Amino acid sequence: MTLDENWFTEVCEECGTAFSLRSRRKLHEEQTPFQKIEIHDTEAFGNLMVIDGFVMLSARDNFLYHEMMAHPALYTHRAPRRVVIIGGGDCGTLQEVLRHPEVEHCLQVEIDERVTRLAEEYFPELCTANNDPRAEFLFGDGIRWMKEAEPGSVDVIIVDSTDPIGPARGLFTEAFYRDCHRAVGEGGIVVQQSESPLVHLEILLPMHRAMRAAGFETTHTLQFPQPVYPTGWWSATMARKGGSLLEFREMEAAARPFETRYYNAEIHRGALAVPEFFRRELERL
Ligand code: SAM
Repeated sequence: MTLDENWFTEVCEECGTAFSLRSRRKLHEEQTPFQKIEIHDTEAFGNLMVIDGFVMLSARDNFLYHEMMAHPALYTHRAPRRVVIIGGGDCGTLQEVLRHPEVEHCLQVEIDERVTRLAEEYFPELCTANNDPRAEFLFGDGIRWMKEAEPGSVDVIIVDSTDPIGPARGLFTEAFYRDCHRAVGEGGIVVQQSESPLVHLEILLPMHRAMRAAGFETTHTLQFPQPVYPTGWWSATMARKGGSLLEFREMEAAARPFETRYYNAEIHRGALAVPEFFRRELERL
């Protein structure tokens, strides 16, 4: 079957696959100083944001990613009060972070203000916490911000970035993790979106190596489904400055004072399980 022009298609060269969604119409397209942003109205997944040809999020399934980027790390930290999000311009992760009443301040450092402005317009359901007095927005380079961050000033860093290309390339390096390590206090956690365990091991494994080389004692990858990303199987990798990543405030996660659609204590426990092929690769590091 040949797809006509009414389909949006993302080609994943390294996977040898393509993923398509039928688009009712393109709602917006612009080239910012950093990247090309498109918004489509898709039939099955609602509004879709695409950056430089790569799917960022859809209205239908973003909850999987945003909940898993926020809640496991926040329920692993003993008392997450100061959170920094690098990237995350669509504000979905920010919204999940601010569901935690113990969070006192969440700074979002997004390089491209247009991503946030377009999210406000096309994904207002993700921006409901933008006026929360605990939220702060800074539009600038997260790599630079981390270099200048005050030592020990952050509890949890969430790197919600694009793939390691363009302005996000430097977010996957040992130098960046070294800056993160300095920025977090004892027990501090970094969690970063880490692509597909099925086809992106060449990104995932060096990430573990670089995080450990930067000084983090423990690293661990969480896995979860994400239908709109290549292979549909996605991951987030956590690194911790002292302390376990396998233990979390399980009772509190089970009794959380807010609603989720995917995350719960059992999902958290399950997401920590390590597939055999991945365990073998990690042992070789
Ligand atoms: N969930 C998405 C994914 O995994 O494809 C990521 C969504 S979020 C829109 C990614 C954001 O990271 C983009 O808005 C992009 O502008 C931002 N970004 C990329 N490099 C950055 C950097 N160096 N500093 C701050 N933000 C950055």
